Amino acid sequence: MRHPRRLIWFCHTEQVAANPEQLVQLRDEIGLTTIMPESPICHTSGFRASNDLVARGPFQDWRDRVELWPKAAEGIYPPVAGVIGGFDDAALLKVIDAAVSAGIEVWGHIGLWSYGGDVYPEHALETIDGDALDPDFKRWGIGLCPSRESINGWTADGLEDIARRYELDGFCVDHARYPQPASVSALAACGCSHCKAAGEALGFDVPGLHQSLRDSASALQGVTQDALRQLTATPLPPDQLLDALGVPRQVTDWFRLRSALLANQMRRFRQRIQEVDSSMIFGSDVFAPSISLLGGNDLRGWESATDYITGGSSSGGVVGWATASTNAAFEWSRALAAVSQPGEQEWLEAALQVLGVADLPIPRDMAALEGGRDLPIEALYEREVEELTKQTTGQVPLYPPVSAGGDPERTRRLCRAIVAHGGHGAMMTLSPDQPETLQAIVEGFAEL
Ligand SMILES: [Zn+2]
Repeated sequence: MRHPRRLIWFCHTEQVAANPEQLVQLRDEIGLTTIMPESPICHTSGFRASNDLVARGPFQDWRDRVELWPKAAEGIYPPVAGVIGGFDDAALLKVIDAAVSAGIEVWGHIGLWSYGGDVYPEHALETIDGDALDPDFKRWGIGLCPSRESINGWTADGLEDIARRYELDGFCVDHARYPQPASVSALAACGCSHCKAAGEALGFDVPGLHQSLRDSASALQGVTQDALRQLTATPLPPDQLLDALGVPRQVTDWFRLRSALLANQMRRFRQRIQEVDSSMIFGSDVFAPSISLLGGNDLRGWESATDYITGGSSSGGVVGWATASTNAAFEWSRALAAVSQPGEQEWLEAALQVLGVADLPIPRDMAALEGGRDLPIEALYEREVEELTKQTTGQVPLYPPVSAGGDPERTRRLCRAIVAHGGHGAMMTLSPDQPETLQAIVEGFAEL
């Protein structure tokens, strides 16, 4: 199937509003087709919510939660779901005008569930044991429960409202996921009664899946150092390694259930905006394919619930694709070594094998992984893009993420990896005033 080629700029609303001529420049110099503006102040594109939605918003009191959200003191909104009221949309309107006159598409941006649980503990993810997420893993996100109708219904109404009032070509929603699977604590969430009921309505044996998680934890805690060394000496396919470690196969269904809960809401959101305008497309960034199922982005489910697949950044941070597997391997190894006989080194080897990257030249060095040092970024990234095309059917276009601000040679290689594996463009961060970066994008996508 032929899909549209798109080069999408993940840009800051206020910056483009101050320099609208950059849209024409990027259109002419690199073939920019689309922008996805986000305001770092309100975490949406900069929408002004309608009064009735403000009145029934679940997060409207964020300014009073400065103890839980210190940035409230600076007027920075918390990264929660939906469109919170009180924001002035003058900058966004300027950006939309400039994009329309340049013939560039605009994708609206709002957040969903993977953050904000620390600011709104009453709506936060909880583990299958009913506990709050472990704050030791906070850097990977303390998310919101994805099954609260008070949040999802209001978010759907907000999407419909902005689809009606703004001249948008589609949406790219953010945080449509659980925390990064590096958060061991978040892997066992959400165990709340809302998620249990929603999972059972989809036909899942939820108590059985909770038990399979507990069985997995006990099996891993019982693994001996000798056994783990022997098992990882000759790499096995991930499923076989997990079998040998005693992890029940049923646990995969826990992750399918978690993804299905999100995908169902995504389908509903898409329907609401397409009832307003059937030409509007809807999608989100997803985690890197090595961890996407574990983080709530089962790619097959996403293909049927959204109109395209993209990502947040090419490396680093919570959503970087190249560093997704190494971050997860690092945290899992540290957590497992603390509760079992094998050490971090032995668990690291096993974790990299389970994530399908053990054959790449990744340093077996916990400090390097933690700091993201000496990693084969280009090779890790290419592995993820290769997996993306393997795990999808071709039903929707694929726009992997390229953070193009750094080394131009790296940018060129990342773009070429997308072309080589059948991608249809990219979601990019870039600075229009760096000519070497723009040249690298042009060269990297020359064959697209
Ligand atoms: Zn829940």
